[in-house]
Amino acid sequence: MKVKARLWNKLENNKVKCNVCANECIIGIEKLGICRTRKNIKGELYTLIYGSHISKGSLDPIEKKPLYNFWPGHIAYSIASIGCSFRCLNCQNWSISQANPTEDGKNGFYDIKGYEDSKMSLYEMTPKQLINRVINSGAKTLAYTYNEPLIWHEWIIDTTTLLKKEGIKSILVTNGFSTPEASKELIQAGIDAVNIDIKGMSDDFYKKICGAKSVQPVLDTAKFFKENKVHVEITNLLIPNLNDSREDIEKLCDWVLENLGNNTPVHFSAYHPDFKIPSQEKTSFKTLDLAYNLAIDKDLFFPYIGNIRHENGSNTFCPSCKKILIKREGYRILNKNISLKNTCKNCSYDLKDCIKGDINNNSSNIFSFL
Ligand code: SF4
Ligand code: SF4
Repeated sequence: MKVKARLWNKLENNKVKCNVCANECIIGIEKLGICRTRKNIKGELYTLIYGSHISKGSLDPIEKKPLYNFWPGHIAYSIASIGCSFRCLNCQNWSISQANPTEDGKNGFYDIKGYEDSKMSLYEMTPKQLINRVINSGAKTLAYTYNEPLIWHEWIIDTTTLLKKEGIKSILVTNGFSTPEASKELIQAGIDAVNIDIKGMSDDFYKKICGAKSVQPVLDTAKFFKENKVHVEITNLLIPNLNDSREDIEKLCDWVLENLGNNTPVHFSAYHPDFKIPSQEKTSFKTLDLAYNLAIDKDLFFPYIGNIRHENGSNTFCPSCKKILIKREGYRILNKNISLKNTCKNCSYDLKDCIKGDINNNSSNIFSFL
């Protein structure tokens, strides 16, 4: 649905500047921004995807987002739209992230070679309709995920405000390429948790692989959310020969330690060749195990491993006595060693700055489409 955008200003000759993400597009009349979801119509900026969804949503384990230290074991009602501020060569969700909306926001289409004839229908909801669906599903959290949520700013602000009133937690799974103004509005609306993808620690990686100018806005966003008491977890997808050296991993761990603190979970995730295949190889177990052990050596409390089986990589350990706090098989919680006061049952370490929300003992690996 087309609605007037937030966070933009007029420039000369009817151009506009969008301040929703760090691309800060300057958009000429009748043109689109880099995300292709915002259009300058007669000198005013509109979003074309307000309330436009790829489906009615899905019910996912929150660990799939991934969030392991926020409402562990709970269901995240997960929604997405189309478009993205990046063009990652490895995008696993390219069929939605690289789709364009029609001007009424009802359909998606592609300008990717070979897919020009493919189309998708989008599902429109009002904020109230979405909130009613989430309430009826019984989920206590809602995740904006799969494509890049930051470009869905207006929809997120309106729906998060309503979710807050219902006591439902809001989650962003994002590339973190925000602006301070946009992040501030999201925090004020009530975003409770974010998983931010730090894709690499160099501008070179962001330019070559993601089509973005720099990593710095991503780091600034992570810091800003953390400073404002939003629960932050980090994901780092390790792509063979591109960002998976020991030096790359150490640089990321050091940055997290120094800027977000050792209680910030870091998810090292396995790459597999997809979309434009920037590397032919999958990430090896050896690389992921190295990342896990480097993080432990640096005293990061909560490293995790995703997309591959790893003996300890999905368990949560006590930062003090190192015993298992939450044992998982896949996304499912097998048992927990945490008291009702949110302390380690073994050593009484206070976990209030480490694990947020209730733990669901009846969690499941299953996700379902609505
Ligand atoms: S959201 Fe980002 S990519 Fe989209 S128009 Fe605005 S600044 Fe450009
Ligand atoms: S930021 Fe995420 S959704 Fe966007 S292109 Fe990159 S991997 Fe895909």
